[in-house]
Formats: sequence, C-alpha cells, structure tokens
Amino acid sequence: MSEKSMTDIIALCKRRGFIFQSSEIYGGLQGLYDYGPLGVELKNNLKAAWWRAIVYDRDDVEGLDSTVLTHKLTLRHSGHEATFADPLVDCRECKSRWRADHVKGKCEKCGSTDLTEPRPFNMMFKTTIGPIVDEESYAYLRPETAQGIFTNFKNVVDSTSRKLPFGIAQIGKAFRNEITPRNFIFRVREFEQMECEFFVEPGTDLEWHERWVKERINWWKAQGLTEENLECYSQKADELAHYSKACVDILYRFPHGLEELEGIADRTDFDLGSHSKNPDELKLAATVNPNIDSTAQLTIRDTKTETTVVPFCIEPSAGVDRGVLAVLTEAFTKEKLENGNERIVLKLKPHLSPIKVAVIPLAKNNPAIVEKALLIKKELQSLGLGRVLFENSGNVGKSYRRHDEVGTPICVTVDFETIEKEPASVTVRDRDSMTQERIEVKDLADYVRKYYSSQG
Ligand code: ATP
Repeated sequence: MSEKSMTDIIALCKRRGFIFQSSEIYGGLQGLYDYGPLGVELKNNLKAAWWRAIVYDRDDVEGLDSTVLTHKLTLRHSGHEATFADPLVDCRECKSRWRADHVKGKCEKCGSTDLTEPRPFNMMFKTTIGPIVDEESYAYLRPETAQGIFTNFKNVVDSTSRKLPFGIAQIGKAFRNEITPRNFIFRVREFEQMECEFFVEPGTDLEWHERWVKERINWWKAQGLTEENLECYSQKADELAHYSKACVDILYRFPHGLEELEGIADRTDFDLGSHSKNPDELKLAATVNPNIDSTAQLTIRDTKTETTVVPFCIEPSAGVDRGVLAVLTEAFTKEKLENGNERIVLKLKPHLSPIKVAVIPLAKNNPAIVEKALLIKKELQSLGLGRVLFENSGNVGKSYRRHDEVGTPICVTVDFETIEKEPASVTVRDRDSMTQERIEVKDLADYVRKYYSSQG
C-alpha cells in the first residue's frame, strides 16, 4: 500500500479547490465529483499532455470528438447491450448491493455471508431522445469513447486518405452505472477517458501492441509517476475477452492499493468487423454477430498487398480521473523543514501544475507595487503557458504555503526594491528547493519561458 493517505488527498482537494463532491449542498450524489478552479486546470493539463503526445508528436494519429448520446444500434452491435454487465450480489442481511468479483463471498458492510446468487446488471445509462417516449425512442450515454471512433472509421479514412498503420484518438466523457463506486475519483459513474484506436495490418498487431505498452508506460513516467509505483499485468489467456489477443493493464499504486490506470488491448478485427454490413463476407479473424443494420463495410485498401482488409486494432485506453488521482498521489508530499515545521507540497510536474506562476505584491496597499505586479502578471500571462495568478493576499509567507500545497512551481514577489532600485528586479522562489533568487524584470519572461521549455 502507498503511504500516502486518501484522507489527506481528499482533504487537500476540497480545501484548495481541486475536487468537490457533486451536488454537495443537497447531500451529494454517490460516485460523482466536480472539478473546482484548480482541478479543472490540472485535468486540462493532463489531457493536453496526452493529446500532444498522441496526436501532435506523432504523425500517424488523427483526433476526433464524437457525441456522448449514442445510437442503440451502435451499442447493440458492439456487444454492450447484451454483455456490458457486471454480475452483482445482494446481501440478504443489510440489503446492500455489491459487484460479485469485489466481495469474495462476504458483505463488505456487515460481514454477512448470506448473499444472493450473482445476477447480471447492465451498467449503461439509458435516456430518451425526442418528444415521444416509447419503446424505440431510447439512446445510451456512451460507456466508453471507443465506439464513436469505430463508427467514424470510414469518415476519417475518406476525409484524410490515411493508410495503415494509423490511429484515431479521442478524449471525452463516459458513463457507467457502477454498482459500488468508491475510492474517491477512482471508480465513479461519470468519468473521462483518453482513448486511441490504432489500426494496423493483421499480423503486425502483436508487435504494435508491445510498442504501445512501452510508449504508454513512458508517458505516465513523464507525468511524474515513478517506476516503483507502476506495474504491468498481462491478462492470462482465460481472462481475455473472446475477441482479444492480448491485454496489458498498467497498474498504479493508488492510496487504496495497486489498481488499473490504463488498459492496452489487441482487439483484433472484432470492432470494425462487428460494425460492418454483412461481416460474413469479410473473412474476419474474430467471431462477430450478423449485421444488416450498418450501411458500410469498415475496410481499408492495403497498398502493400493490394487487397482490401479489415484492420486489427490496438487500443490504449486510460482514465483521466484515475490519471488525476495518480499524479496527485505521487505529488503529495509532507516535508519536515529545518525549523521543525512541516509543509505540504504538491510536487507536480510543472506542465501539469494548475498555476504556472503566482505573482505576489509584497504590500497589497502600495499602489506602485500592486501596479508593477499587475504588469508582470499580464506579461507572463501572454506567454501562453497556462494560468498565471495575481495573488494579492498581502501575506507573502501564507501565499508561499498556499502555492506549495497546490503545486505552483514559481512564485514571483514584487517588493520595494522592485520599484525603488534600478535595474528593477523581483524575487523568484522555487517550489521544491524553496530557494529564492533575484531576477531582473526585463529577464523574467525569458526565465519563465526557458524554465517551462526545459521541463518538457
Ligand atoms: P475496472 O476493471 O477497474 O472496472 P475496466 O477494465 O472496466 O476497469 P476499461 O473498460 O478498460 O476499464 O476502461 C478503460 C479505462 O477507463 C480504465 O483503465 C480506467 O482508467 C477508466 N475507467 C473505467 N471505469 C471507470 C470508472 N468507473 N471510474 C473511473 N475510471 C474508469
């Protein structure tokens, strides 16, 4: 178990405005959380880092943003309508309900072993579309972003002229009616996923799968997760879905234990095959159900073999919220200071920090200092690095402590020397070392820009 306590992390998240219980003033809704002023910045920074790595830094992946409301036929042919279910059991003693694979024969609430037989429970949220509510007017809130990628496969290929191998990436909300949401934002009912479906020539899939596993572990390390808190688990043959050839879970040592952060699966030609019209004509490797609803065959011309193929698909699928919890866990640090005091510092990688620079006037009632600080904030903001905060609390010590707790890498203090002495200079304080140095105002923007570009 990690030594970081979930209680400490939840308390920090609430105290400093990262994450709140959803609908808290009405008693809260279980398994739903809202991201506050700093949480939204952290989450956006994590998503931007993923998008940069997957879409911008590579030349073989396109982006997509498909709808949350999903056609019932999409989720019928994907297999979700029939099988997206967790077996659940009820405790006859205290009437609580659990996922069968979570309870291990014993109710977690009251300890009773008097449990019902497991029953399947479909985890998709259903809703109606249009003014008439009848048996046919329903749609689903998507339980994963992937299906929107498969149903747009032909649109993307036709509009970009992509050849194999190439991928389609998407970040977005997914909804699952989890029976037992728990462990803060680890298992929730509304969450975000970062998914890439990478399409390859059949036969090259296992090699690509291995490459993606390595790539994804390296990416998580670049977000600050350390080797000792990351592990890979290769699913055994009897654990794999029937269409899957390989699946590796990247596990992270969360405060509540070692659990899945991301899954990387070799999904063969199952998905594109399942969504194709008359899939029996396609010589698929996977076994799929008949489909007379689709209007297209999701194939691509293989220029090497001059044949039409249904590509195999490698799917790295990561949870944004689990990612946020992992980077918060890794970054959360309690430090003993030389004077015997303790400080909490969030040692986030700078590119993830919600606030890039805090600009603090030493005296909040001194118009010249305040005006200079505002000018500096404006100049640093225009660098386009993310949020630069004008922090006019009037107490530098308290401001440093607050910014340590929220992971602000750089604090700039504007003081009397700044306005009185030539050349004008400010104090720049480093979050991790707590060292302070004097930098000339004319060099500050360059210093900050260089600091962030050297951090990757
Ligand atoms: P688990 O076994 O933990 O329920 P899963 O194997 O069903 O997860 P996938 O369907 O592979 O998860 O989804 C891909 C990723 O989406 C997961 O690795 C995880 O990061 C995230 N995810 C899935 N379900 C949830 C959830 N209820 N809350 C938060 N994140 C989730």
